[in-house]
Order: sequence, then structure tokens, then C-alpha cells
Amino acid sequence: MTHYTLADYQQQLASKDISSVELAQFFLQQMAKHAHLNSFITVCEQEALLQAKHADELRAQGKAGPLTGIPFAHKDIFCTKGIKTSCASKMLDNFIAPYNATIVDKMASAGMVMLGKTNMDEFAMGSSNENSFYGKVHNPWDLNCVPGGSSGGSAAAVAARIIPAATGTDTGGSIRQPAAFCGITGLKPTYGRISRYGMIAFASSLDQAGPMTQTAFDAAILLNVMAGFDPKDSTSLDTPVPDYTANLNDSLKGVRIGIIPSFFGQGLHPDINEAINKSKTVLEQLGAVFVEIDLPHHDLAIPTYYVIASAECSSNLARYDGVRYGYRAKNPENLLDLYQRSRSEAFGSEVKRRIMIGTYVLSSGYYDAYYIKAQQARRLLAEDYQNAFKYVDVILSPTTPDPAFKIAEKSDDPVKMYLSDIYTIAVNMAGLPAINIPCGFSGHLPVGMQFIGNHLSESKLLNIAHQFQQVTSHHQKAPEISL
Ligand code: GLN
Repeated sequence: MTHYTLADYQQQLASKDISSVELAQFFLQQMAKHAHLNSFITVCEQEALLQAKHADELRAQGKAGPLTGIPFAHKDIFCTKGIKTSCASKMLDNFIAPYNATIVDKMASAGMVMLGKTNMDEFAMGSSNENSFYGKVHNPWDLNCVPGGSSGGSAAAVAARIIPAATGTDTGGSIRQPAAFCGITGLKPTYGRISRYGMIAFASSLDQAGPMTQTAFDAAILLNVMAGFDPKDSTSLDTPVPDYTANLNDSLKGVRIGIIPSFFGQGLHPDINEAINKSKTVLEQLGAVFVEIDLPHHDLAIPTYYVIASAECSSNLARYDGVRYGYRAKNPENLLDLYQRSRSEAFGSEVKRRIMIGTYVLSSGYYDAYYIKAQQARRLLAEDYQNAFKYVDVILSPTTPDPAFKIAEKSDDPVKMYLSDIYTIAVNMAGLPAINIPCGFSGHLPVGMQFIGNHLSESKLLNIAHQFQQVTSHHQKAPEISL
């Protein structure tokens, strides 16, 4: 039963081969069986069974929609009314949101059954899921390796078939990088395509939610529900949502795919290089043509991101002061002591590092030298992509320079850790959509590649990914522990 996709479960529910309650019970068992992966922070057994029962009733009354009764999990960054929303931080360990994020409401209104909240890096800062207050997550392909981050719990859970699909968020790669490390499909949509209302902010000009699934087809099904304008989010795009499943079977004949030769040189693991080369042949057989392009300012991506993301995080996280939300230090001597001790006792070291960098680059005297410069560099990076899209429909790039690394291998060296996002980060700064799909293996570990498209080209990305998955089987491979 575990190898089915979300689309398969849709059919089985529709034909009444299985009930929503049976499906929820099965996946709750999967969650218990694989608890050692630590992919969940909260399991919502009672709530899920009630929702599933309600879904079955709707189906019996002929009122079921396409996603009624489908089980899934939310990254623990989305506010869920009445259910703990921790963002994997001690700061929010006791936080029960008083309202739902828009995407939580949308998925619930579609009848989907939320089984729990997945583990992640604290406040979505990290690339390995080692920065969680609730402990590290293990990669289901190799328990000694990280699942990637920050949406590591979602990626591990989908890869291990603990859950058919999950939500993630991507500020600099946090959907795509863990999807690559765990061998699943992960889509980061165009900035503004999915509402950020109720999604705990890290870097507001970069954060974007998206689906994490086994297949591109499943990602399209979920994006149909997740996307759309939201008056509660001023950066949400007021453009109609197409049916993302409608063009999945379009031919790839004549589709122009850009390749940046320097991305495939030094620094890229040879197995990833080889897997992408083989995938290029498959794409050519499907009719695509490859065009060499350049992104001349790409070297600026990592330093620019760490200035902008840290600046925004230092501002966003100022709200956690021990007064309004979450953790409050005991017996403060005065107000300043309350602020200082609440923050120093409840934030982890990576979050503190980002707040300090951000405060520094925004401070008077350094603002022009760092923050303004970074904004200028961001513009150059975004323009590079626009120039490229004059010649190509999408860009094909590695998702990560290496396969999943060992737990603790990079945790003492933040710069090494930051470099694992070298291929994903610029995409967020340009606000573009991109999708990771599995494309092969390096030894026993899966590797991925990403397609990057112009704004609002999700349908095209999903079409290419789906066509590739129709003629390959990388996405069907599951780790042994799931079998
Ligand atoms: N790994 C990157 C960081 O640590 C990106 C995180 C993300 O996309 N949320 O900031």
C-alpha cells in the first residue's frame, strides 16, 4: 500500500476501495512505525480520525471533492488553530495558534486530512534539519545522513512513505534541497503564488510555501488547492489559478532548456553530473533542445542571500520578546532582562547567528555597505534570469552540489553548510518557481535536478517534470525501510 501516490489514493477513495478512516489509520500506523526518523513534531491522531470520518460522510452523501479524505502533513511553520505550531523552536514550544494559516484553511476546506506537523530547522534556518529544538531528522535512505533542510521532516516522511504528501516552505532552497536529498518531488512556486498569511515569517521577501510529493502529478494536484490570491497577504498575486494538471501531457517537442556550463564544473559531485547528463538524453528523446546560457552574477548569490535573509529575519524575529508570544524567562529583574533572557534562553545558536548578522547589516554605518549593496546585487541576479529567459523556456540545474551528507559533518562550519544551497538560493531572490525531481543515485543515496522557470510558469515546470517521470522510474524508488 505504501508505494501508491496521492493520485492513486484519490482513485481508491472515489471507487470506495478504501475509506478515509482506513487511510488515516494506515498512515498513523506508518508514523508510529517510523517514529525513529523523528520526522514529526506533533501527531494529530484524534483530530485526523474525526476529519477522516467527516470525509467519509461527505463521500457517502455524494459531496466529496477530488481531495476529500486524502491524508497529508503540514510543516510545523504553518499556524494551525488549536494545535501546537512550534517552528521547531523552544521559543514557540508552548504556542497554540489562535487562527489557521490560509493554506491550512484551503487544504482543510478541500477535505484533506492533516495527520500531523513535520519537523524542520528552527524558524526554517538551516540545510540539514539539525537545528530543530526537537532533535535531528534522519534520512530514510541512510539513517546516518541528514534529510536536508529546512523542510527535512516533510521530505523524510514523504520519502519513507509515512505520508503521501506534505507541505514545505522555501526561502533559499528548503523545499528543493531536502527533496533532492530524500529522492522526492518538491515544487517552490513563484513568490506570491501561495499566501504567506499564517506562515511564520523568516525572510518575508523570499519565503514561499509549496508541495512535497512523490510525483509531479501529485504536486500539480496539491498546487491547485494551495495557490491563489489572498487579501490577507499583501504580496499574494492576484492572478487566476489555472488547473495545474491540465497541461501535464503536453509534448516537450521544441521546449528550450537552458544549461549553464559553469554549474557542471568544479564543485559538483561527479555522480550528480552523470545523472543529469543521462537525464538530458532522456529529455532530448522527448523533444527538448538544450541551449547554453550564462548567469554572470551567480557568484553573488550566497553572500547576497545571507545579507538579505538575515536582515529580514532580524526584523521578523524581533516580535519574540517574551511578552507577546511563546517562551518567557523566569523571574526577570526588569523589562530589559526579560527581553534578553527570553531570547537568549529560547533561540538556538543558528537563529542567534542570523539575528546578529541581520542586526549588523542593518545598523547605521553598515546599512549602505551591506544591505543596500545586497539589494543591488539581488537586482543583478534577477536580471540575469530575465536575460536568460529571452532564449530559453526553462533552465536545468543541479539542485545540490552533493548528495545527502552525514549527520554532524557540517554542523560546526556554517559557511560549508551555507554552500549546500548554492544552486537554489538565487531562484528565491528572483522570485521564480523551480521544481526538484529525482534523477538518479550516488551509491545508495538519491540525487535530484531542478528546473527553473520564469514567473508563473509552474504549469510548464510540472509538464516537463511529469513527462520525464512518465519515461523514468527514479521517483518510484523508495528506501528499504519503507517497503
Ligand atoms: N538553507 C537556507 C538557509 O539556511 C535556506 C532555508 C530556507 O529555504 N528556509 O537559510
